[in-house]
Amino acid sequence: MSVSSEDQFKNIVSHCKEYGFIYPSSEIYDGLSAAYDYGPYGVELKNNIKNYWWQAMVRMHDNIVGIDAAIFMHPKTWKASGHVDAFNDPLIDNKDSKKRYRADVMIEEFVEKIEAKISKEVDKAAKRFGETFDEAMYRQTNPRVVEYQTQIDSINQRLATCMTNGDMDGLTTLIEELEIADPVSGSRNWTEVRQFNLMFSTQLGNIAGEEGKLYLRPETAQGIFVNFLNVQKTARQKVPFGIAQIGKAFRNEIVARQFIFRMREFEQMEMQFFVRPGTEMEFYNYWKEERMKWHLALGTPAEKLKFKDHDNLAHYANAAVDIQFDFPFGFRELEGIHSRTDFDLKSHQELSGRKLQYFDPELNENYIPYVVETSIGCDRMFLAMMSHALVEETVPDAEGQDSTRTVLKLPAALAPIKCAILPLVKNKEELTDKATAVLHRLKAHFPCQYDEKDAIGRRYRRQDAIGTPYCVTVDFQTLEDDTVTLRDRDTLEQQRLHIDEILPIVKERTDMAGLFG
Ligand code: ATP
Repeated sequence: MSVSSEDQFKNIVSHCKEYGFIYPSSEIYDGLSAAYDYGPYGVELKNNIKNYWWQAMVRMHDNIVGIDAAIFMHPKTWKASGHVDAFNDPLIDNKDSKKRYRADVMIEEFVEKIEAKISKEVDKAAKRFGETFDEAMYRQTNPRVVEYQTQIDSINQRLATCMTNGDMDGLTTLIEELEIADPVSGSRNWTEVRQFNLMFSTQLGNIAGEEGKLYLRPETAQGIFVNFLNVQKTARQKVPFGIAQIGKAFRNEIVARQFIFRMREFEQMEMQFFVRPGTEMEFYNYWKEERMKWHLALGTPAEKLKFKDHDNLAHYANAAVDIQFDFPFGFRELEGIHSRTDFDLKSHQELSGRKLQYFDPELNENYIPYVVETSIGCDRMFLAMMSHALVEETVPDAEGQDSTRTVLKLPAALAPIKCAILPLVKNKEELTDKATAVLHRLKAHFPCQYDEKDAIGRRYRRQDAIGTPYCVTVDFQTLEDDTVTLRDRDTLEQQRLHIDEILPIVKERTDMAGLFG
């Protein structure tokens, strides 16, 4: 992370706390590592993100329906899904610092350092050659860059092979050969790499021993698979159709960090799309594009998002791609789109002994559908929105303290509060009564906030900091002609409007329907 992105990340974390978006969990006990609580504005923003996803899936597609399955599932579910045997991360301990790491992540970070060296060389050369600089040619011909790139390719290749084959000894050897040191202590005194299962387990009250062992679901997808036939029949759906779900998932991550990017308890928004075998690539491509459109409709710049194909496919997938977002710590996975074949339904059919087949009336035959899934972390989406939206900017024509402002440029449809109602001064009853009357007119239609404390400029700044797109100010002229000012968060323009115009204007400009084109 460069210094400025490190600062930006720190700003996001402290802004989230200071303005009631996210607090460390159980803070009065010094917090619990990697667990966070969403505050009053955080919960509104998170609900809006979920709502945007839900509407895009369930409301905008006739052939997608939703469910809300239990977090606890029959333990055989996780045997069938492969999670009991294969939901592992490679764990390594440093014997001196006693710190734990994910071996694959350590190797990836090592590769990132070499990539940073390449970028440095490229930047230097770009400055030296100026306008005539041909970056692609330089990357192909500069001996130092070529050497770095060869090293990267070879490490990535070995990492992918080890991960695909579950070769823990191979990872140990790679870490030793690359002489990777513990970032905390600098020590290279490592244990062997071993597999670590990421599922949290718990025990049923009424059954002792292994029989009563339950898992907290590590993904919401399995609740969809086991309900496939229930939903298909009761919602009278025909293949191709989808089932959407939003809910908590739990993973005992070896290293949970980077704020809400990687937590042990988080929320997923997943959709499994059931298709005729052989048509899965068509739908895989459709959902890839559809999901990218969903992100772009929020106004996120295209260069902040990119597709990244998986180097090594999970045991169930025949194609997989991530949508990565440019977080302050670099491009990382925000969402996954996976073609999961018939792996899950077939395994559940085998282990449960129940037929999970679909009768296709057009083909006049039974088959187990193939599945294309889209899976996005709600918390990661929250962090992506925050990283993109939080900006410090200079205010034109302002002086001194007022010349800069911190503003959260969230898409209006996702903003926690849509409209703030502000009487110009607080000790004039006619003004505060009028402003309260405006609040009562608006608040049933969208989330509003009434604020009369402090000078008007400070109140505007407070609303900017929580991302409120519109502020209505009630002043002395309002008492004469029922007009108010409507201030736009982004342009800072103030428009004089009749009170009756506020509701339709703010409603239209903050309505989620606007995101669907
Ligand atoms: P990663 O490689 O970052 O661990 P993953 O590939 O294991 O992620 P998936 O199993 O594809 O993730 O889960 C789907 C989505 O759930 C991810 O794209 C991410 O947004 C979210 N997610 C996964 N693990 C976590 C976590 N520990 N904390 C927050 N969100 C998570």
